Amino acid sequence: MLEIDVPGFGLMKLDYLVSDFNGTLALDGNLPLEVKQKLNALSKSLQLFIVTSDEFGKAKEQLRDVDCVLHVLEEKDMAAQKAEFVAKLGAQRVVALGNGLNDKDMLKAARLGIIVLGNEGCAVETLLAADLQVTSATDGLDLLLNPKRLRATLKF
Ligand SMILES: [Mg+2]
Repeated sequence: MLEIDVPGFGLMKLDYLVSDFNGTLALDGNLPLEVKQKLNALSKSLQLFIVTSDEFGKAKEQLRDVDCVLHVLEEKDMAAQKAEFVAKLGAQRVVALGNGLNDKDMLKAARLGIIVLGNEGCAVETLLAADLQVTSATDGLDLLLNPKRLRATLKF
Protein backbone atom coordinates (compact mmCIF):
# COMPACT_ATOMS: atom_id res chain seq x y z
CA MET A 1 0.00 0.00 0.00
CA LEU A 2 1.04 3.55 -0.67
CA GLU A 3 -0.17 6.03 1.91
CA ILE A 4 0.16 9.68 0.97
CA ASP A 5 -1.35 12.49 3.00
CA VAL A 6 -1.69 15.74 1.10
CA PRO A 7 -3.05 18.83 2.88
CA GLY A 8 -6.29 19.90 1.18
CA PHE A 9 -6.32 16.86 -1.12
CA GLY A 10 -6.66 14.40 1.72
CA LEU A 11 -5.24 11.05 2.77
CA MET A 12 -4.75 8.60 -0.07
CA LYS A 13 -4.48 4.90 0.68
CA LEU A 14 -3.59 3.40 -2.65
CA ASP A 15 -3.34 -0.33 -3.37
CA TYR A 16 -3.58 -0.40 -7.15
CA LEU A 17 -2.15 1.33 -10.17
CA VAL A 18 -4.33 1.01 -13.27
CA SER A 19 -2.70 2.22 -16.45
CA ASP A 20 -3.40 2.54 -20.12
CA PHE A 21 -0.58 1.11 -22.28
CA ASN A 22 -0.13 2.84 -25.66
CA GLY A 23 0.62 6.52 -25.52
CA THR A 24 0.80 6.39 -21.73
CA LEU A 25 3.54 3.83 -20.98
CA ALA A 26 4.49 2.68 -24.46
CA LEU A 27 5.15 4.35 -27.81
CA ASP A 28 4.06 2.46 -30.96
CA GLY A 29 3.55 -0.59 -28.76
CA ASN A 30 7.10 -0.55 -27.39
CA LEU A 31 7.73 -0.20 -23.68
CA PRO A 32 10.96 1.68 -22.85
CA LEU A 33 13.35 -0.11 -20.48
CA GLU A 34 13.25 2.78 -18.02
CA VAL A 35 9.46 2.53 -17.77
CA LYS A 36 9.72 -1.24 -17.17
CA GLN A 37 12.20 -0.69 -14.37
CA LYS A 38 10.08 1.96 -12.71
CA LEU A 39 6.96 -0.19 -12.98
CA ASN A 40 8.80 -3.05 -11.29
CA ALA A 41 10.04 -0.73 -8.54
CA LEU A 42 6.50 0.50 -7.98
CA SER A 43 5.13 -3.06 -7.93
CA LYS A 44 6.70 -3.41 -4.46
CA SER A 45 4.06 -1.06 -3.07
CA LEU A 46 1.14 -1.22 -5.54
CA GLN A 47 -0.47 -4.01 -7.53
CA LEU A 48 -0.22 -3.06 -11.18
CA PHE A 49 -2.90 -3.54 -13.82
CA ILE A 50 -2.45 -2.57 -17.45
CA VAL A 51 -5.75 -2.08 -19.29
CA THR A 52 -5.42 -1.74 -23.03
CA SER A 53 -7.03 -2.31 -26.39
CA ASP A 54 -3.54 -3.55 -27.39
CA GLU A 55 -3.61 -1.69 -30.69
CA PHE A 56 -0.23 -3.13 -31.76
CA GLY A 57 -0.69 -6.64 -30.31
CA LYS A 58 2.60 -6.30 -28.44
CA ALA A 59 1.49 -5.67 -24.85
CA LYS A 60 1.91 -9.25 -23.58
CA GLU A 61 5.41 -9.57 -24.97
CA GLN A 62 6.47 -6.07 -23.91
CA LEU A 63 5.19 -6.60 -20.37
CA ARG A 64 6.63 -10.10 -19.88
CA ASP A 65 9.31 -8.91 -17.44
CA VAL A 66 7.00 -6.55 -15.60
CA ASP A 67 5.27 -7.58 -12.38
CA CYS A 68 1.73 -6.68 -13.50
CA VAL A 69 -1.59 -8.07 -14.66
CA LEU A 70 -2.48 -7.39 -18.30
CA HIS A 71 -6.14 -6.88 -19.08
CA VAL A 72 -6.95 -6.63 -22.80
CA LEU A 73 -10.22 -4.84 -23.49
CA GLU A 74 -12.95 -5.72 -25.92
CA GLU A 75 -13.24 -3.43 -28.93
CA LYS A 76 -16.36 -1.54 -27.85
CA ASP A 77 -16.99 1.06 -25.10
CA MET A 78 -13.42 1.07 -23.93
CA ALA A 79 -13.89 4.14 -21.75
CA ALA A 80 -16.68 2.36 -19.86
CA GLN A 81 -14.65 -0.85 -19.56
CA LYS A 82 -11.71 1.05 -18.09
CA ALA A 83 -13.87 2.96 -15.62
CA GLU A 84 -15.63 -0.25 -14.62
CA PHE A 85 -12.29 -1.95 -14.04
CA VAL A 86 -11.30 0.83 -11.63
CA ALA A 87 -14.70 0.73 -9.90
CA LYS A 88 -14.46 -3.04 -9.37
CA LEU A 89 -11.08 -2.70 -7.64
CA GLY A 90 -12.47 0.12 -5.49
CA ALA A 91 -11.82 3.52 -7.07
CA GLN A 92 -10.67 5.09 -3.79
CA ARG A 93 -7.73 2.65 -3.73
CA VAL A 94 -6.65 3.35 -7.29
CA VAL A 95 -4.19 5.66 -8.97
CA ALA A 96 -4.89 5.72 -12.69
CA LEU A 97 -2.60 6.73 -15.55
CA GLY A 98 -3.75 7.51 -19.05
CA ASN A 99 -3.49 9.85 -22.02
CA GLY A 100 -6.41 9.23 -24.37
CA LEU A 101 -10.03 10.21 -24.52
CA ASN A 102 -11.08 6.72 -23.44
CA ASP A 103 -9.04 7.17 -20.24
CA LYS A 104 -11.16 10.11 -19.11
CA ASP A 105 -13.69 8.20 -17.03
CA MET A 106 -11.14 6.02 -15.25
CA LEU A 107 -8.98 9.02 -14.39
CA LYS A 108 -12.01 10.82 -13.04
CA ALA A 109 -13.16 7.80 -11.01
CA ALA A 110 -9.78 6.98 -9.49
CA ARG A 111 -8.68 8.53 -6.19
CA LEU A 112 -5.73 9.95 -8.07
CA GLY A 113 -5.81 10.49 -11.82
CA ILE A 114 -2.58 11.27 -13.64
CA ILE A 115 -2.49 12.21 -17.30
CA VAL A 116 0.65 11.62 -19.33
CA LEU A 117 1.36 14.06 -22.13
CA GLY A 118 4.07 11.95 -23.80
CA ASN A 119 5.00 11.73 -27.47
CA GLU A 120 1.42 11.00 -28.51
CA GLY A 121 -0.02 14.00 -26.68
CA CYS A 122 -3.13 13.73 -24.56
CA ALA A 123 -6.84 14.39 -24.93
CA VAL A 124 -7.88 17.76 -23.50
CA GLU A 125 -11.11 16.41 -22.03
CA THR A 126 -9.09 13.78 -20.18
CA LEU A 127 -6.61 16.39 -19.03
CA LEU A 128 -9.46 18.26 -17.35
CA ALA A 129 -10.62 15.09 -15.60
CA ALA A 130 -7.16 14.41 -14.15
CA ASP A 131 -5.69 15.62 -10.85
CA LEU A 132 -2.25 16.04 -12.28
CA GLN A 133 -0.45 16.16 -15.61
CA VAL A 134 3.08 14.91 -16.27
CA THR A 135 5.19 15.03 -19.42
CA SER A 136 6.19 11.36 -19.48
CA ALA A 137 5.41 7.97 -17.96
CA THR A 138 8.72 7.99 -16.12
CA ASP A 139 7.85 11.35 -14.53
CA GLY A 140 4.45 10.00 -13.51
CA LEU A 141 5.89 6.83 -12.00
CA ASP A 142 8.60 8.86 -10.27
CA LEU A 143 5.91 10.89 -8.51
CA LEU A 144 4.60 7.67 -6.99
CA LEU A 145 8.11 6.44 -6.15
CA ASN A 146 8.86 9.82 -4.51
CA PRO A 147 5.52 10.85 -2.95
CA LYS A 148 7.00 14.09 -1.57
CA ARG A 149 6.95 15.44 -5.12
CA LEU A 150 3.30 14.55 -5.39
CA ARG A 151 2.57 16.28 -2.11
CA ALA A 152 4.28 19.45 -3.26
CA THR A 153 2.17 19.61 -6.41
CA LEU A 154 -1.23 18.74 -4.94
CA LYS A 155 -1.23 20.44 -1.55
CA PHE A 156 -3.62 23.31 -1.11
MG1 LIG B 1 -3.40 5.70 -24.80
